Amino acid sequence: MDEEDLQMLDGTIASVNGAVAELGIRDDMRAVIIEPWRELSAALPVRMDDGTVKVFHGHRSQHNATRGPFKGGIRFHPAADLAHTRALGMLMTFKSALVNIPFGGAKGGIQVNPRELSERELIALTRRYTRSIHLILGVSRDIPAPDLGTNAQTMAWIMDEYSAIHGYTPGIVTGKPIELGGSEGRSESPGRGAAIVGRLAAQDLEIGGDSPRVVVQGYGQVGSSAARKFVEDGARVVAISDIAGGLYNSNGLDIHAIDRFLEEGGSIADSRGGDQISNAELMELDTDVLVPAAIEGVITSENADSIKAQLIVEGANQPTTIAADRMLADRGVTVVPDVLANAGGVVVSYFEWAQNIQQFKWKLDRVNDELESIMTAAYRATREHMQSHGVTMRAAAYNIAVKRLTEATEMRGFLK
Ligand code: NAD
Repeated sequence: MDEEDLQMLDGTIASVNGAVAELGIRDDMRAVIIEPWRELSAALPVRMDDGTVKVFHGHRSQHNATRGPFKGGIRFHPAADLAHTRALGMLMTFKSALVNIPFGGAKGGIQVNPRELSERELIALTRRYTRSIHLILGVSRDIPAPDLGTNAQTMAWIMDEYSAIHGYTPGIVTGKPIELGGSEGRSESPGRGAAIVGRLAAQDLEIGGDSPRVVVQGYGQVGSSAARKFVEDGARVVAISDIAGGLYNSNGLDIHAIDRFLEEGGSIADSRGGDQISNAELMELDTDVLVPAAIEGVITSENADSIKAQLIVEGANQPTTIAADRMLADRGVTVVPDVLANAGGVVVSYFEWAQNIQQFKWKLDRVNDELESIMTAAYRATREHMQSHGVTMRAAAYNIAVKRLTEATEMRGFLK
C-alpha cells in the first residue's frame, strides 16, 4: 500500500475505533464490523493489441452487507491492490450507514493504468474481470459503480457482460449512461450533497450570513458541482483551482462563465475574472468555507494552523490528516467529514438502483429533492449528536454509523 491508502485505512479504522470506545462496543462485535466478509482476487489474462497475453490482477472486497447489498466503486489504478481495495470498501459501509440507505460497503480494483490500454484492451479486461467476479455480484448481492479510472462507459461494459450471463440486468451497476438506465443527476450528486451540508453547517454556525464566501480546491467532478450548488443557494465562490493552480476574486467568481470557458477547452489558469494564485495560497485564503475536493492529505500539520476558514467541507476522501484534524478541532474549526460530505454519490446510486428495480425513471427535480432530503436528515442527525455528546462532527458521524451497523448486526443474530 502507498501512503495514501495507509492513511485512508488508518483514518477509517481510527474513526471506527473511536466510535467503538465511545459506544462501549464489545470486542467480538468490533471484530464482526471491522473484518471484510468476503474477498475475491483473480488473475485476468488479456490478449493485447501487439499479440502478447498480459495477466492483470483484479479484486473485489465485500466489507459488510448487514444493512443491505454490498455497494461500492471499481477502481482501475496501478495501486489498486487488495489492501487498498479493502480500505476503500470499509469506508463505504460506514458512509451508507450514516446516510441511512439500505446498502453495505464494498470496493473493487484492477491493478492497471487504464490510460496505457487501448479501448479494445480495456473492454477485454473489463469483461474478463466481470466474468471472474460475476458469481459474487447481484442486484440484491453486490452492485458496483465507477471510481478512479472507471466511468459510465466502464459500467455499460460490466452491465453488458453480466447481462450476457444472467439476462438483462441494468440494476447490476450504478453510474451507468442515462441511455442504459443511469439516473439523472448522478454525476453532480457528490458535489451537490457537499454543498447542501456545507450550507446547512454555515447557517448553524452563523458564518457568512446570506452569502458565505466559499473556496473550492479541485474544480473536478465533485468540486465544480459543489461550486454550482453553492452559487445556486446564494453563496459566493471566491476561489477555485485545479492541479495547475487557482483563480481568486474576493467579490466572487462568475462560475457559469468559467464553466463555458472550460467547456471550450480553456483552463483555470487562463480563465478571466480573478487573480492567479497557487494551491497553497488558496488553502490559506480569508474565507468562510473551504471545500477540499481534489485529493487526500492536503490539510496537514504544516498548514492546519494557517487555514482561516471556520468551516471545512471534505468533498474529497481523506483530505485532512489525523494530526491536522486534531489541530483544527483545538482551534474550533468545524470539519464536515468526507463520510458525510461526499455521500451524495452513493445516495443517488441508491436512487438509480431503485429506479432500475422499479423499471421507472425519475425526473431530475425528484432526484435532487430526494438527495436534499437525505443529506439534510443525515446532517441534522450528525449535528445533533455532535452537540449532545460534545464531540467533533467526524466522531459524531462514525458514532451514528457504527451504532446503526451494530444494531443491525445484533438483530440479524451474528453474535448469537
Ligand atoms: P476529478 O478528477 O474529476 O477532479 C479532481 C480535481 O482536482 C481536478 O480539477 C484536478 O485538476 C484537481 N487536482 C488534482 N490534484 C490536485 C492537487 N494536488 N492540488 C489541487 N488540485 C488538484 O475527481 P473527482 O471525481 O471530482 O474526485 C475528487 C475527490 O472526491 C477524490 O478524493 C474522490 O475520491 C472524491 N469523491 C469522488 C466521488 C465521485 O463520485 N466523483 C464521490 C465521492 C468522493
